[in-house]
Amino acid sequence: MSLDDISARIRAAALDAGRPADAVTLIAVSKMQPDERVAAVLDAGHRCFGENRVQEAARKWPGFRETYEGIDLHLIGPLQSNKVRQAMALFQSIHSVDRPRLARAIARIAQEEGHCPDLFIQVNTGEEEQKAGVLPADADAFIAECRDLDLPLRGLMCIPPADEEPSLHFALLAKIAARNGLKGLSMGMSGDFERAIAQGATHVRVGSAIFGERHTG
Ligand SMILES: *Cc1c(COP(=O)(O)O)cnc(C)c1O
Repeated sequence: MSLDDISARIRAAALDAGRPADAVTLIAVSKMQPDERVAAVLDAGHRCFGENRVQEAARKWPGFRETYEGIDLHLIGPLQSNKVRQAMALFQSIHSVDRPRLARAIARIAQEEGHCPDLFIQVNTGEEEQKAGVLPADADAFIAECRDLDLPLRGLMCIPPADEEPSLHFALLAKIAARNGLKGLSMGMSGDFERAIAQGATHVRVGSAIFGERHTG
C-alpha cells in the first residue's frame, strides 16, 4: 500500500460515513522505520507523522526538520514524567496523557515555556492491565481535571485490545468524548482505520500499511 492508496481509502471511508472527505487526519506512524522510507513519504508531500518513543523521535526528526518545512509530529506512545519537557519541545500533539501527575507536569512546563502541544487523553477502553490509559469509569473526572489545569485538550485516544472487535471500543471512546464535549478522536490503525472512521475518528494512526513491516530490535 502506498500513501496515496491509504489517503484514498481514508477519504472514501469518511464519505461512506456521511462525513466530509477531509474530515480525517492521517498520522503516518514512522516508528522503527528506516529513514529512506520516511524521506520517501516526506518527498510525496506528507507532513503529519507519529512516533511512540521520545528518544527515537529526538534522534530522527530534528534532521528531517532541517530539510522539510511544516512537519507536524504526534507522540502516540507512553510519556514518562522526566521526558515531558523534551516531548513538549519536539511534538505538536501528545496523544498519551493518562494520569494526573503527567497532566500537572505538562501544565507546569506549559506555564514556564509559554506553549503547549495539543493534548489527547488516552483511555484504556479494554481495561487491560498492561495497557496505558485512564479507565473508562475515570475518564470524565480526569477530563475535568485537565480542564481545571487549562490544558489544551483536543480529544481522546484509544488502542483496542488486539483480540476484540475494535468497533465497540471506538464507539465507547466516541461516547465518552461526546458527553464531555470533545471533538478529537484518535483511533484506528493499519488493520482497522476504516472502522474507526465509521465511528467518528478524526485522527487515524497508520504505520505498517504505509511503510511496510517495521524493523524490530
Ligand atoms: C505502532 C502504533 C500504531 C500504528 O500501527 P500499525 O498497525 O503499524 O498501523 C498506531 N498507534 C500506536 C499507539 C502505535 O504504537
